[in-house]
This record gives sequence, C-alpha cells and structure tokens, in this order.
Amino acid sequence: MARMRRGVGLVTVAILGLAGCGSDPEPERTPATASAPMAVRQFAPGAAGVGDAYYPNYGNGGYDVGRYTVKVRYDPATDRLTGTTTVQATATTDLSAFHLDLAGLTVRKVTVDGAPARHAREADELIVTPAAGLTSGNGFTAEISYEGKPESLRNEVLGESGWLHTTDGAIALGQPESASTWFPVNDHPSDKATYDVEITVPKGLTAVSNGVPKGRSDRGGWTTWKWSEAAPMASYLSTVVIGEYQVETGEHKGRPVFSAVSTKLGMGAADASMARTTEVADYLESVFGPYPFAAYGGVVVADDRIRYALETQSRPVYGSGFFRGGENTGVVAHELAHQWFGNSVSVARWQDIWLNEGLATYAEWLWAEHRGNGTAQSAFDQRYAGSSSRIWQTPPGEPGRENLFSESVYQRGGMTVHALRVAVGDPAFFTILKTWAAEKRNGNATTAEFVALAERVSGKQLDKLFDAWLHGTDRPPAPGRR
Ligand SMILES: [Zn+2]
Repeated sequence: MARMRRGVGLVTVAILGLAGCGSDPEPERTPATASAPMAVRQFAPGAAGVGDAYYPNYGNGGYDVGRYTVKVRYDPATDRLTGTTTVQATATTDLSAFHLDLAGLTVRKVTVDGAPARHAREADELIVTPAAGLTSGNGFTAEISYEGKPESLRNEVLGESGWLHTTDGAIALGQPESASTWFPVNDHPSDKATYDVEITVPKGLTAVSNGVPKGRSDRGGWTTWKWSEAAPMASYLSTVVIGEYQVETGEHKGRPVFSAVSTKLGMGAADASMARTTEVADYLESVFGPYPFAAYGGVVVADDRIRYALETQSRPVYGSGFFRGGENTGVVAHELAHQWFGNSVSVARWQDIWLNEGLATYAEWLWAEHRGNGTAQSAFDQRYAGSSSRIWQTPPGEPGRENLFSESVYQRGGMTVHALRVAVGDPAFFTILKTWAAEKRNGNATTAEFVALAERVSGKQLDKLFDAWLHGTDRPPAPGRR
C-alpha cells in the first residue's frame, strides 16, 4: 500500500496499486495507463454534516468514533470550563481534514496521533487539518484542548439546552443536540461511541455523568469524579450534572446504582420515584428482554429551565416538575424504556424518532396496566377517541423537524405500537419487541427495518397498517381490540 504523499492544499493525490510503489521515494505523478492498472487515492476534507435530512449540519463525515475520553474542569463561581477531549476514531474515507462539532469555547491546541494539527472554526464546526492525511480504514487519535465559558443552545422544542450554568453548578443536557457545548464531538446518533468522563469541580460539589461510577479523588480543593460508559452511546445521551446533590448508591443484579436528587428539593416524591428505578427496570426487562447497560440510576435537577426528562444513557435526568404532584413512576418507565429503545437501539436518522418515543410511550401504558392503573387498551381507546385533529394530520413517521417531539410522535406513535399488537397478537408482539432489542442492541435502526422485522416475526403483511399509522394524514381505521 502506498502512503499518502503530501501535496499543496487540501486535496492530495497518491498513486496506489503498483508493485514497489510503497517504498518508492520518488514523487509519483504519472497518469494511469492501460498497461499499468492503478487506483487514484484522493485525500479530501470530511463533510461538515452526516446529511441527516432534518439536521444536515449535525455530525460530520469521513470517520467513525470509537471512544471519547472527556476531561473537564468547571468552576461554577466563574462559569469557566477547561477541557481536554481525546477522540479515538477510524477514517472511513481518505481525509486531508475533518470536522468536529463544537459550540463556543476556545480551542487552544489540537494534535492528531501526537503531532500538532492545524485547526479552524466555522460557526459550530471545529476543522482539524492533521500534518499527514488519514487513510481510510486506519485509526487515529485526536486530542483537543479548549476552554471558555460554555454556552447554552436555543432549542426549538425544549427551550434551553446544552450547558446551563445553575446557581450551584451546571447541567449539560438536551435533544437532539447538547454535547457540542462541552466537548468536541461527532454530534449525530449514527456515530455511537464509548465514553470515559472525568469532571473536576470544587470540593463539596457532586458531578454526575453516564455509566459506571469509577470513583473520585480530591486534590487541592478540587474533586475529580470519574465515569465510564462502556456500551456505545449516542452523543445527545451524554450528560453532566454538577451541584449540591443528595446521592443514593447501591447495587442491583451485580450492577451499580447511582441516583442523585438536588438538595434544593425538599421533595420526598423525587427520592421515592428514583428509589423505584430498579423495580421499573425489572418490569421492563420482563417485556423487552435484558436491561442493556451496566449501571442504573437517575438524576433529579431543580432548575426551571429543565421542563423535561431525558433518557441520558443508564441515568436519566428528570426536571423536578415531574414529582411536584407526588411519586411519579410513569415518567421513570418512559425514560427507562428508552434505555432499550433510543439508547441501545438508536435512530439512524432523526426522522425515525417515533421508534424511540412511540415505544417509550407504550411502555408507560404497559407499566400502568402492570400496576393496575388501567389497561393499555383503555389508554389507546382514550387517545383514539379524544386526540385532536393535529395528531391525525401529523404523520409520526415523517413528522418534519418542527414536529420532532410533537404529540403525534408520542401518542400516535404509542397508538401505532398498540395497533401492531392487536394485528399480530400478544405472543408475536412481545417477541417482536424482544427481538428488536436483541438484534439491534448497541446499534442503529430505521423504521423500514422495524416493519420488516415485525412482518418476519408475525408472518403477516403489515405495510398497510404501518402506512396508515405512520404516514397517513387522517385518523386510521380502528384496529379492533385485544
Ligand atoms: Zn421519550
């Protein structure tokens, strides 16, 4: 194999395929001829987005990340973050340069495979030009040092997301994006990776992230909290919560449990709901198959800007409003269901978000039935009869970016799951859910693949059902009752 030859500008050409070419020190610029077959290798910059139809600039092209090591220090008093992120990736095209997503912050230094690399910024893109081109199929390691005052992101649906400075610390959270406000990242769910996160905060504060707690250490008035998520994770499922928290730890089925509730909440309801996390997870395991991750937990934050809960991997983050009316295991069931559907099985494109939200909504109905709070059939009936025309006009299978988190995606998505259940019967239905979770575990999936699997498992033709429920702009015919 020939190594790339450095050229001027961003595109460098190397000639491959000639015997002895790899050790030939002479610059090779001879055009191909019929008698000397050769391939032309073109090193070009990776794309600034993965080409998601809804969010074309999210993520980047030309590489696949395997692991992030994110080390940040944050001082709430000054709202300053300093960080070093190591990105271990594999080039998927021949790269002369590549993009990472990074919102705000100032990049101080970038190296690729230990050698200094040039870097530039364009809006929320960090463009890295390594000293030598990166050959498709080869691994590389980029290390980025950065600092600054982290930004929040305006979010069309959630209001505010990204890095939020709170009175006692910070919360980094949000869907469909948030990670780029605290580390350079390939910010699209199609590129899942494992994560090691270290957060250094003033001593006395708690710093929670995803996965298994790996201990903490004190040094000079600072505490470093270490976390590790060893299962592939979509970037929007990463989180950091810093502040004054009441922590509960334990073990369940050999896995660590770590939950944290803001000390600002004098709310027994939040603690009681978090305490039922493993009970809810065990029920969901009985209908979806094995719990997919190595840790359990939840975090309840007290900040008026967080008016949502998010299924951050292995440890959802809940806005405190969910527990104002008392214990709430419905929201816990929803966020934990996402550990299977959304987190372990992730969307490949944002358009298919109903796969996450429809199944998580249906999990709420199943959990309610399990607890004797009305059947899934009655939950369906209520929505089928009472939903607004807007739900019927908005197809959950193609909601449009503006309706990504609309009621249709959730409620009509849940009704779609129930319509499937009625059509195929309970044994096939629960086999479909378990098979989906098992076959797509730690991967990405599309609606078309879900439909194909449902047809394969049930032996039924289901395209008309899914067309009506996911793509129609009228209320589909009633599916019968189970
Ligand atoms: Zn959800």
